[in-house]
Amino acid sequence: MTTTPETRKFEAEVAQVLHLVTHSLYSHKEIFLRELVSNASDACDKLRFEAIAQPDLLAGAGELHIDVSADREARTVTIRDTGIGMSRDEVVENIGSIASSGTRRFLEAMGSEQKADARLIGQFGVGFYSAFVVADRVTVLTRRADAPAGEGVKWESDGRGEYTLEAVDLPERGTTVILHLKEGEDEFLEPWTLRSLITKYSDHVAFPIRMPKDAGDGDAGADADAGTDGEAGAQAAAPAWETVNDASALWTRPKAEIGDEEYQNFYKALGHDFNDAAAWTHNRVEGSQSFTTLLYLPSQPPFDLMMGGRDERKGLKLYIKRVFIMDAAEELLPNYLRFVRGVVDADDLPLNVSREILQHNRQLERIKGACVKRVLDLIEKLSRDEPEKFAAFLKAFGNTLKEGIVEDAGNRERIAKLLRFSSTKGEGEARDVSLDDYIGRMQDGQDAIWYVTADGHRAAAGSPQLEAFKARGIEVLLMSDRIDEWMLGHLREYAGKPMRHVAKGELPLDEAEKQKLADAAGAAAPLLERIKRLLGDRVEDVRVSARLTDSPSCLAMSEWEMAPHLAKLLRDAGQDVPEQNPTLEINPQHALLRRLQGEADDARATDLAHLLLEQAELAAGAPLPDPAAFLQRVNRLLAG
Ligand code: ADP
Repeated sequence: MTTTPETRKFEAEVAQVLHLVTHSLYSHKEIFLRELVSNASDACDKLRFEAIAQPDLLAGAGELHIDVSADREARTVTIRDTGIGMSRDEVVENIGSIASSGTRRFLEAMGSEQKADARLIGQFGVGFYSAFVVADRVTVLTRRADAPAGEGVKWESDGRGEYTLEAVDLPERGTTVILHLKEGEDEFLEPWTLRSLITKYSDHVAFPIRMPKDAGDGDAGADADAGTDGEAGAQAAAPAWETVNDASALWTRPKAEIGDEEYQNFYKALGHDFNDAAAWTHNRVEGSQSFTTLLYLPSQPPFDLMMGGRDERKGLKLYIKRVFIMDAAEELLPNYLRFVRGVVDADDLPLNVSREILQHNRQLERIKGACVKRVLDLIEKLSRDEPEKFAAFLKAFGNTLKEGIVEDAGNRERIAKLLRFSSTKGEGEARDVSLDDYIGRMQDGQDAIWYVTADGHRAAAGSPQLEAFKARGIEVLLMSDRIDEWMLGHLREYAGKPMRHVAKGELPLDEAEKQKLADAAGAAAPLLERIKRLLGDRVEDVRVSARLTDSPSCLAMSEWEMAPHLAKLLRDAGQDVPEQNPTLEINPQHALLRRLQGEADDARATDLAHLLLEQAELAAGAPLPDPAAFLQRVNRLLAG
């Protein structure tokens, strides 16, 4: 059955992706093969899964496999799988017109790149389009496994805005992708090139990838033509095929037999990453419940994670007895470990599980617990044995890990132990101080872990509240990531020591210091009253500070109050954060306070008092309520 082709337009965003792919992806063009083989392998996985309920889907077309061949005459490369195939609607939806979330993110990420690395493409779930990196025309022939021969679909496009759809007869299920190579891409017609790319990128695809036997000498039957574009000919006339990949499920093999390079190659294919993994852990648990886990820590964040792709959670695959069930990162790992990639293969789960069942499955809960433990063990080991890799890992994923302090109360202390901060005793901005390092060098009699939060390292390091701590030689951790304040709200203590913000609550003072402060407050009482009166309802209270040595003023907060920079952040994000008047602390020794004390002119005193408050607010990252008024005050005083 053949009908006249119907021509359709790509959706605007898909067309944009295609434009970028054909014009901007220059290096590592060969990645198209990995992406198309990966799709073929996914299609075989899907068929095997659906065949659990419907075994006759597997009838015909032989075992699940993927064939790769080249036709020198026709200048085509063909990738054929005997997997699930697609219906007409699915073709339209998956590779035709409907832009996926990956399409959008790809466009955002690539928008500014002139010449990008083709290897990026797989990370966005738009791998199919990589075909257009090397081909100026792509033909897809596909038939769903549960559809009759007459319901085949032919899709074809030159990637320039339109594609055609046509009904065709296809005797066998599955999908054939034919790439009509661009000028200058002839290297991909060489069978040995294709073969070495398969070994390099797809060796651990769990299905046999086959190439025509002895294809090294020529074009091995691929030009014996019949049917559409020579692709069916490759099938019909192909004399013999040989498997060119390893075709075993890597994780099922004993650890001792797997080399580092094999682990790395498997990771790269699994995570669509081109960087090596930082570390991995491969374990088999035998017992009342048996399962295998192979979990990786990437060394670089994928674009997804950087771009806030929190909902797109791919990369942790659930298998049951070697049958791929689904991407199950959400079911198998908590959100704060979403950077982990890998495979979990369970022996004892029912093969017909659904996502709903998985979410309430006790066995799976146990497997999840084991995964979390393995990953935390792995990170801990990295921190002990490979400090450089660990530092790079924290740089990439440290902030994601911090979410675990909030999300995973049971592992809070373990996670906190892994974090590193900059500190007043560390090296500049380097984040190399652990909470254990801090505790190890606490002063005699010091009972709390002190920190300051601010919007940026310099703001943190310049906080006036640090002055008294510096004067006493007490180390303070400098926290400047947006997530820190939120995290610290849940990390109230570590190793039995309270975690305290230098600007919050009362400082622990000895008797002599308390007396000194009380005396200073007594002496400054009229000054405090005057400032309070001048600032009116802009402040909650004004008091003498124990925190300052050099600066004239700072803000102080109660134990449970939100830091001003965070309150601003939340308000900017549209949240309803109650307004609270700040408490102002002053340093009566400072020249500015002395000047205010002696200032007879009330207007000038008002300016001075407001500036004391405003500079404290600025240092704390709070927005100035009236910047213009602030500038007028500064200018009056400067001119004055
Ligand atoms: P991804 O594979 O990451 O989802 P792609 O752009 O590579 O993104 O493919 C888009 C979709 O097209 C796939 O999710 C799948 O549904 C479908 N698809 C692609 N190749 C095949 C194939 N060989 N067999 C069946 N479906 C396929």
